[in-house]
Amino acid sequence: METGGSSSVATKKATLTPKAIIYQKFGSEARYYIEEVQEPAEYGCPGLAIPHKGPSLYRCSLQLPGISVVSGTFKKKKDAEQSAAEMAIEKLGIQNSTNSLTQQEASDELVARVKYLFSNEFLPSLQPLSGHLRAALQREARLSGILATSEGQLWIRRQNPYPREIMESSISQPSGSPQSTLIEAVCIPCSSEKAVETVTLDVSSTGYYLDAISKKLGLTDAANVLVSRTVGKTSSETRLYFAAHQSCMLDLSSDPLTAKEAIHLEGPLNESLSKKGPLNERASYFSGHDIYGDAILASIGYTWKSKDLSYEDVSVQSYYRMLISKIPCGLYKLSREAVLMAELPLAFTTRTNWRGSYPRDILCTFCRQHRLSEPVFSTETTPIKAPSESPACGKKLRVTDSTEEEIEHEKGCARDTVARESAESAVTYQCGVKLFSKCQDLIVECFPKDSFKKQNDSIQNTSLKVLSWLNAYFRDLDMTPEKLNSTANSLEIRFCEKNFSKEFALCRSIHNVYQSETQGAKFLDENHISMPNTLPGQGVFSLNIDGPDSGVCPSNGCLLVISYSVSLVTESGYKKVLESSDEFEFEIGAGAVIPHLEAVVIQMSIGQSACFKMDMAPKEFVLAAAAVSARNLSLLSSKSCCLKYSLTLLRVTEPLEERMEQALFSPPLSKQRVEYAVKHIRESCATTLVDFGCGSGSLLDSLLNYPTTLEKIVGIDISQKSLSRAAKILHSKLSRNTDGNAPIACVKSTILYDGSVTDFDSRLCGFDIGTCLEVIEHMEEDQAFLFGDVALSSFRPKILIVSTPNYEYNVILQKANLSSQEEDPDEKTHIQSCKFRNHDHKFEWTREQFNCWATDLAAKYNYSVEFSGVGGSADIEPGFASQIAVFRRTSPPDEDEHLKDTDSAHHYKVIWEWNRPSTYSS
Ligand code: SAH
Ligand code: MG
Repeated sequence: METGGSSSVATKKATLTPKAIIYQKFGSEARYYIEEVQEPAEYGCPGLAIPHKGPSLYRCSLQLPGISVVSGTFKKKKDAEQSAAEMAIEKLGIQNSTNSLTQQEASDELVARVKYLFSNEFLPSLQPLSGHLRAALQREARLSGILATSEGQLWIRRQNPYPREIMESSISQPSGSPQSTLIEAVCIPCSSEKAVETVTLDVSSTGYYLDAISKKLGLTDAANVLVSRTVGKTSSETRLYFAAHQSCMLDLSSDPLTAKEAIHLEGPLNESLSKKGPLNERASYFSGHDIYGDAILASIGYTWKSKDLSYEDVSVQSYYRMLISKIPCGLYKLSREAVLMAELPLAFTTRTNWRGSYPRDILCTFCRQHRLSEPVFSTETTPIKAPSESPACGKKLRVTDSTEEEIEHEKGCARDTVARESAESAVTYQCGVKLFSKCQDLIVECFPKDSFKKQNDSIQNTSLKVLSWLNAYFRDLDMTPEKLNSTANSLEIRFCEKNFSKEFALCRSIHNVYQSETQGAKFLDENHISMPNTLPGQGVFSLNIDGPDSGVCPSNGCLLVISYSVSLVTESGYKKVLESSDEFEFEIGAGAVIPHLEAVVIQMSIGQSACFKMDMAPKEFVLAAAAVSARNLSLLSSKSCCLKYSLTLLRVTEPLEERMEQALFSPPLSKQRVEYAVKHIRESCATTLVDFGCGSGSLLDSLLNYPTTLEKIVGIDISQKSLSRAAKILHSKLSRNTDGNAPIACVKSTILYDGSVTDFDSRLCGFDIGTCLEVIEHMEEDQAFLFGDVALSSFRPKILIVSTPNYEYNVILQKANLSSQEEDPDEKTHIQSCKFRNHDHKFEWTREQFNCWATDLAAKYNYSVEFSGVGGSADIEPGFASQIAVFRRTSPPDEDEHLKDTDSAHHYKVIWEWNRPSTYSS
């Protein structure tokens, strides 16, 4: 978790960053050291024996003459640096006096900075700019040692040559004949009418890469080439190169030069520089500042990591991928590697059904892409009302699979993860988010009324709402303010029109894809009418579904796996595959794929294949999906081509058990099971308990809410992920309740083991009570039998409670689930598609199967067994939703005495252990 406080300096309007202030004062004497810190494994849960693979965090120590400071830990290096700088500023009592600098002071500072760049120590340093200077010196092997920024009229020059030692140590002599290296880059013409196209840069080992670029830009002097900051992905070194515009140069005719010592002026300014060309909208959009004239997008230059020139090809496809990564649905498509298939889903149903980047992450990336501040999330908790007041069941399904919940450490999102998890059952979460511009003007805010049982769900849902709205904007940039407003209202969003249009002004001319470029394929218009399998109004034609109907059909909420390919086809029979995947998984009914595909796939059953044609997708998506040759490029605009989708439906996974159960039961079945077990545990007056397959500890956690006679609590599971979650929850609960009056006052020790419940371990022998809730169906059937044997023959608890789904009840769950969606389920296909409640289930038993298993087992090992259940009723068909067997040991107590941890077969690994501090033990 980040430990650094929020930066007060950063929130002030348009001031210098702390780092810049430090730089002004100390220049190169300020040294930043970044240290990577792994979050300690014990965080929030001492003694957990599972390596915690938390995110890497960074800490920065800043050394200044006389003092040094160490920052807290941060997710980003630069935040750590800023924080350290801020601490130093505070410690030194530096006033941010930028505004009050006299002209002379400002000029001195500027000169000092420039001077440093030409200093002896700078040249050999590992720095992008010093790498650049070395390359300039080495240019065409003229190692004169005099460094000037330009051959032309305006230059800054180091007056004396570098000392020889510095030259020799920092500049590698060119060896042998120049080796020519060709690098692919992209030219973004100034006129938006002209298409972006590939250019090849010839960078030979003795040449100077900026010369190659300036040649492409038609400039005579590499010094007139300006370089943007990096664009695209955070990790990329891709930059824009463009001609210096006059506004970037000093106005030499009128201004007296302020830094006479460093800047010399010779001759008139280059003609081309004095003319202000038209704005290059596309390049400006990428870089975030005005760029005039043609620009070159290339990934070439020096880095912080190596002294060698580093480079990478940048293709037209890369350009389009960068372009679509500016819009929310593009970011999502890229995260799924399915540009022509995936769509940003309309709803965040469950965490387990979500594929691709999460909404919150997409929103953060979006803000970075548009140079906005990081989104500011705020969550509120509300205690859950009494169960009787809980909303009618089946209305809104808002439950995520608890086994999949990930513990997160995110800025502003999980201030108290542990408390959140353990309090999960008691509160609901509401999340709001605000987006600010870089200078902290509010742009958009969204405060939905929906509340969620999980904090993460609330954050994802709110993020998705904002993304959906932004997406609607990008989809129809000509939307009237009224329409934009009403869309916002329906999503519980408010936005500041002025600030919004200020930030997104350029988008309009760049992302005009939906308007102007979707009219391809009209030549096939007549087919819309003549083809028999046409979905009217869907833009889908020539639909063909092949293969026998297996009867297993997808229904809303299911996860589908398809294989697919999308090709570009023309009238004349030309075909080129643009995108394909052997396995593509998505939730049906959530808008996670293009609507055309969703409309087709619900008509299919497992094993069937389909193909259909569709109007051309927006050009920027097509070009982002595949590298397209010049020939295809002209095809795209010739309106004679369309997209052909081919797919096969491979698998369907039924909606998650918990979601189905939630639709029908209040309180949810999982809660009813836990309550059932708690009741038995309390009645039994047990002092020792083992929970077989404890998962994330939902039962153990609930138990600690009630006064019981339990002194020793043990959980065992094979999932380390679940166990570490359980450990964290139990740790926070136990350590918060060490006073004598808490319900758990009796509990003296709690242990979590990593192991399979089918293996014997003597430490689990002879407990008063054992529980095994919804676990056996997660094993193969023979393993479930084995567990029964091991539990009753070897562990021999006095009582064993086992629950498992009643297969016969699935029909009802499914029906409930279907009727909460629109259609009338066809009885036949419906029963056939009625498989298990959860994709991890290896089997589900009918009442008869469960009875046989339990009765045989009880008879074999001197136990009695009683049957019961939760959800539904024993007397009404088809019985309980969850069936439960309660085994009771019938052999006399003394006969079993020898079982208590006598031999030392220890096959389980202790994952976590808690013992009551001795001062509190009763
Ligand atoms: N009892 C918990 C979890 C049920 S989910 C609850 O009611 O919430 C099923 C759990 O069984 C999972 O956590 C899984 O890891 C665990 N499990 C499956 N096979 C197991 C085995 N052979 N030994 C121990 N745990 C097992
Ligand atoms: Mg289960």
